[in-house]
Amino acid sequence: MPAAKSGKRTATRSRAHGAADRGGESHADVFACFAQDSPGRLSPDRLLKVLNEAGILRDDPRIAETIAHLDRGRPAPPATGPLLLTAEEFTAATRHNRGIIERAACGELAVPDFPALVADLQRIHEEVRADRSGAVASYIPQLARVDPEQFAISVCTVDGQRFSIGDADVNFCLQSVSKTVGYCLTLEEHGPDTVHRHVGREPSGQGFNELTFNKAGLPHNPMINAGAIMSCALIQRGLDAADRFDFVAETWKRLAGGRSVGFNNSVYLSERNTADRNFALGYSMRERGAFPPGTDLLATLEFYIQCCSIEVDTRQMAVAAASLANAGVCPLTEDPVFSAQTVRHCLSLMSSCGMYDFSGEFAFTIGLPAKSGVSGALMLVVPQLMGIAIWSPRLDGHGNSVRGIEVCRRLVDCYNVHTYDLLTGTGAETGKRDPRLKRHQSATEGIVGLCFAASRGDVNEIRRLAACNIPLDAADYDGRTALHLAAAEGHRSLVEYLLAKGVDPRPVDRWGGTPLDDANRSGHRDLARLLAEVTGTPRRPAP
Ligand code: GLU
Repeated sequence: MPAAKSGKRTATRSRAHGAADRGGESHADVFACFAQDSPGRLSPDRLLKVLNEAGILRDDPRIAETIAHLDRGRPAPPATGPLLLTAEEFTAATRHNRGIIERAACGELAVPDFPALVADLQRIHEEVRADRSGAVASYIPQLARVDPEQFAISVCTVDGQRFSIGDADVNFCLQSVSKTVGYCLTLEEHGPDTVHRHVGREPSGQGFNELTFNKAGLPHNPMINAGAIMSCALIQRGLDAADRFDFVAETWKRLAGGRSVGFNNSVYLSERNTADRNFALGYSMRERGAFPPGTDLLATLEFYIQCCSIEVDTRQMAVAAASLANAGVCPLTEDPVFSAQTVRHCLSLMSSCGMYDFSGEFAFTIGLPAKSGVSGALMLVVPQLMGIAIWSPRLDGHGNSVRGIEVCRRLVDCYNVHTYDLLTGTGAETGKRDPRLKRHQSATEGIVGLCFAASRGDVNEIRRLAACNIPLDAADYDGRTALHLAAAEGHRSLVEYLLAKGVDPRPVDRWGGTPLDDANRSGHRDLARLLAEVTGTPRRPAP
């Protein structure tokens, strides 16, 4: 078996070490953040609760030393009373894991307002659970027998913030989701030029197991059966069957944060007995000379079916998706499983071909790379933000999980994560939020932006902010509004715009000043006249 790539990569893709060490003094501030309820003392349970709210779970390897330290310090029975940490004890307990703990305390992780995301996922899970449409795959008894009610959603951000709801501990087969990692492994081993001498990269426009090839006689892409069979022909050709399978299973384990994946032998046996179409695809490709010379077709087909029969739960699949979102580095272990180039290629093909013959529609409405499988699994990647795994066995006519698709729809309705949402933004017009923003950050930035634009008389920028739902009469800490600043700087067209938009014409700042006072003080007589008229204020005699 070849040595799997391992070891820590210190590239910028690794975020866990990204936080600058805040030094002893401000680590005390971090302690104070955690110990808000009981100044000077911190219970380990409170520390874990705050971390948990930020999405950093107890089994996260990046806080393993801290957990071990705290467990050692718990009073042994029959001693009673909670262990409380002083600031010094907190520093000692967390010294190996400071980076991640400080970033969690300071709201600096990829999704700073993680509780808001959790609340949305809970709501979406509850709402979508009511949908019982679709039918489980029935081409093999093992899939036909799966309880169709099961439904799980798991999320993992590129900073390893995790949350799961529903049947997140139940294993299911990867099925076609295995095609993603199979393709990545071929790229890592041979590079894209060699790989794409054997498989295309165009959507086929046909069903996933259609007996069809491109003009060169090759599979259309690696996300359909023929292409995935080709990936299996290319992965670690020099190894025997057992080591080739171990290599793939080990890769899933590394992507998923280090927990071993399973294998469903009965699914494998059943699939093998009913794989006529996959055998037909294999023989057709061999007839066309698509495989590299020396390919053992039967071994390749068995390997393909074994890869489809690997089992994971949604917790693992979400971490694997987050590893792809994080350019190939597992957020929990910092294991650089794939190169960024490999992931880029894979996400491109997931975007265009990952959702069977619904891929174009999915790209249009959801706008994110994803891959589904007939087990009801759906792996969704939000590049540089998070991975999401959804599992619910009932499928629609395309072979995609009904609830899986609906969860994606609702997520994209709430958040500006569609690739091209960057063109339309967030706010009132779209009704979408940006999960990358800190709590209150959008409102604060909006007000600062408003005041800044007003002082420059930038009507276009003010219009844009209004479109983003920033209230035009919002005031800063001193009670200064856009109208005060526009009046003080003599920006008549902006004053007219704001008044036409119905802002309060006489807001009072913390010193008791109104926009009219600003206009008068700065000598903008025409503006003073306008504001006096609008507010019904008697005109001051000219000096
Ligand atoms: N094992 C299935 C097949 O090869 C995979 C189907 C799928 O998930 O698309 O037919």
